[in-house]
Order: sequence, then C-alpha cells, then structure tokens
Amino acid sequence: MRYVSTRGEAPALSFDDVLLTGLARDGGLYVPEHWPTFTVDEIRSLRGLSYQELAVQVMKPFVAGSLTDEELTELVGRAYATFEHAAVAPLKQLGPDQWVMELFHGPTLAFKDYALQFVGHAFEHVLKKRGSRITIVGATSGDTGSAAIEACRDRDAIDIFILHPKGRTSDVQRRQMTTVQAPNVHNIALEGTFDDCQDAVKALFADTEFRDEMALSAVNSINWARIMAQVVYYFWAGLSLGAPDRGVVFAVPTGNFGNVFAGYVARRMGLPIEKFVVGSNSNDILTRFFETGAMTMEGVVPTLSPSMDIQVSSNFERLLFDAYERDGQAVKNLMAAFRQSGTYTVAEEPMAEMLGLFEGLRLSDEETKAVIAEVRATTGELLDPHSAIAVAAARKTGLPDGVPVVALATAHPAKFPDAVEAATGHRPGLPERLADLFERAEKFDVLPNDVADLRAHIRKTLHVS
Ligand SMILES: *Cc1c(COP(=O)(O)O)cnc(C)c1O
Repeated sequence: MRYVSTRGEAPALSFDDVLLTGLARDGGLYVPEHWPTFTVDEIRSLRGLSYQELAVQVMKPFVAGSLTDEELTELVGRAYATFEHAAVAPLKQLGPDQWVMELFHGPTLAFKDYALQFVGHAFEHVLKKRGSRITIVGATSGDTGSAAIEACRDRDAIDIFILHPKGRTSDVQRRQMTTVQAPNVHNIALEGTFDDCQDAVKALFADTEFRDEMALSAVNSINWARIMAQVVYYFWAGLSLGAPDRGVVFAVPTGNFGNVFAGYVARRMGLPIEKFVVGSNSNDILTRFFETGAMTMEGVVPTLSPSMDIQVSSNFERLLFDAYERDGQAVKNLMAAFRQSGTYTVAEEPMAEMLGLFEGLRLSDEETKAVIAEVRATTGELLDPHSAIAVAAARKTGLPDGVPVVALATAHPAKFPDAVEAATGHRPGLPERLADLFERAEKFDVLPNDVADLRAHIRKTLHVS
C-alpha cells in the first residue's frame, strides 16, 4: 500500500516510511492511496475472531509490502498482551440498543493505548530492520504523554523525551509518566505552561540541523499508524452487534478527530455504520462546523474533559480530502485560509456529503456530570467525563428503533476521580496494576523555559557532544 498527502504535493510513501515520517513534507497528512474494502461475506467471516486475530485481518491491507503477515501477527500479539481484559475492548449494555465499548483496559487506562501500544512495537521493528534509531520528543498536558511513554519504554531503538508543564498536571497523570524507570524514558518538567511546552517542542523540530542530528520524531495523533490501529475496535463492536447484517451507530467523544476518523475508515472498508455522533464539550469547533459549514477557531476553555479541550481538530483534514474527492489543491487552499484568518467554509457538495454521515453535539460540564450520575444509578457503570459525553450524545441523537448505538468510553473513571466524585459522591479507585502508583519513586528533570537549555539537555542525556 502507498500513501499520499492530503495536500497533494509530498511524494507517495510506503507504510513504514509513513510510520516514521508523521506529517507530510507539504504540511499535509498521509492517507492510503485507496481504501481497501471487504465484501459482505468477508466481513461475515471475521465473526468470532479474537481481538488480536481481527486486528491482523483489518490492518493487513494497510501494511502490505512493508510487514509480512507473520511480522504483523507478532507485533499485534505483543501490543495487546499488556491489556487487562480478556476481551481487550469489552462491550457493556446500558439499555435497549445502547452500548458502551470500554477502551480503557490498556496500561495507561485511556483509549490512546489501543493505538500507541501497537505503534511502539511497529517503530521498534522497522527501526531495527533499518539499523537506525530515533528520538521521540513530545509535549503533554496529561494523557498522551503517559500513553506514549508506556508505548516506547524499554525499546532499544527509541529514546523518548516528554515535556509537561511543571506543577500543572494532575498527580495521577504526572506519576503515570514520571514513575516509569526505563533508561530510555526522559521526563522533563518545564517551568512554564502547556503552551510553552508545545512551543519548545515546535522549536526543536524547526531546527533542522538538530532534528536531523537527533533523528527527532513524534507519535502525535496525526500519525497514520495510530488511526489504522483504531479501525480495529470499530469492526470489533460492529461484528459483535450483528454486522454485516445489521447497521450500527457510533458516538465518539472527539478532540483531534483521530478516533472518529478511524470509524470513518472502517465504514469505507465496508462496515455498515449508519452514522457518527461527534460529541464535544464547550470547546465545540466541530459541533459549530456541522451546524454552520464554517470551521472557525476560538479560544480554549478548561472543562471536566481536558483531553477534548482543543482549538483545532487536526485529523479533520483527512475527512476533507475525501469530501473534496481527494483534491489536494482544494484542501491546501482551505488550510491556507484557515492559517491566515482562523476560518474556512466548506462548499455545498462536500458539506452535504459530510452531513449525511456526521452529527455534532455539544455537552456542558453540568450535563456531563448529570449523565455520569444517572448512568451509575441506573446501570452501575461508572463513566469518566469523556465517556459520559459520548453516552449523552448517543442519547440525544434521534434514531430509528433497532439500530444499536455504541458510545466509546475513552478513559477509565479513576483517571478523573474529582469529576466522577463530584457527580456521584463515589471516588473511583485505581485498578490493581496502578494501585501503588503513589508509592512509586518519580524520575524527572526540571528545566527552565528555554529552548537552548532543552537542546543542551537532550544532547547531554544522549551523550552527544
Ligand atoms: C485523546 C482523547 C480523546 C479525543 O480523541 P481524538 O482522537 O483526539 O478525537 C477523548 N477522550 C480521551 C480520554 C482522550 O484521551
């Protein structure tokens, strides 16, 4: 499989190059040259597979030419061996035709593990084959950092530096990162805000000499391999609920649009998905877009669901590319307008196509807490604020009878204990694997908010003079 850029100018690449490259050189995002599809019979034959077996079948067409079936099977086996639930992504029923899929049984208790655990092993495999190594650098306000660290820890061909704003992440989130003692994991507490951390990382990547010298790389949510690994659980849920002989609807709590885009890919591959309900908090750029056809940037406000507190949904560009019939020049123009004026408007035809499949719904913090309380009272299921937005969005949408709706639960309630306690009076405890998190020793370096210091620190840590 070859991959092309959404802005139409960067060279087409193979899967392993796309894995290591991340962003395309023309500023676009890589997507497969064509969508591989399954026939109805082929989808039916996927029923009854284990999560790992299904993952191999779903990802196989995307890695063709880069990984053999044996290699893919081995990487998938390693990736999901660290998950605690035998079903990997269990479905729970909340009511007639209402389901949640729990995507928080990985090592850091958030859905990002489902992609990053695979990506960590895939990176290591490809790098070893090439005899090269990389230095991953990233900034985090919480969730992504720990999932990336768990994915890269103890990999010989990778060093990972994660910056967090000193004193500005929750204790659970910081400790999930800083208590990892692996020699290739380097946590940095930067004396600044999350934006300072992001700016510092951007400055490192903009320094081409340093970037090449250190072989800098990222594992952010625009990496195609992350999307690909997420396609699997849409098939998993769909097959469990009767696909391909019955349609299904997904409600997805959305930030960067990576998760819900993976669902779109599953639909392109032939899974009968009737609709996507895109849930947002007060940072509702996507909901406003689906209401008006205009994508317009606004300031970010803090909410109970911080992993969705975003200004721009970067993966949306991949959907635009398809809606504009893969016209890279059109996407490039829209993105240029967005950069210049903070807004763009989608033409009538592509807009109609998107509205046929997506609906945006916004939830306030008050509504989110009310849903957490109500679902706990009526089903016993404890939802974190992100997952609650999905469930509430699923309930708000109007659907014909007999179509199951699956809300994606993207984080374990114990990751957001304050919000869950405020809603229910019940403080969720950490699962056993993290029960001693507050007794573990922490390891991190404190650095001033200064790019020169950061560069020197990375050089010194990696023994490069
Ligand atoms: C990252 C994250 C999201 C948003 O997912 P996107 O792929 O960015 O849309 C939602 N919930 C949780 C808990 C997350 O960590």
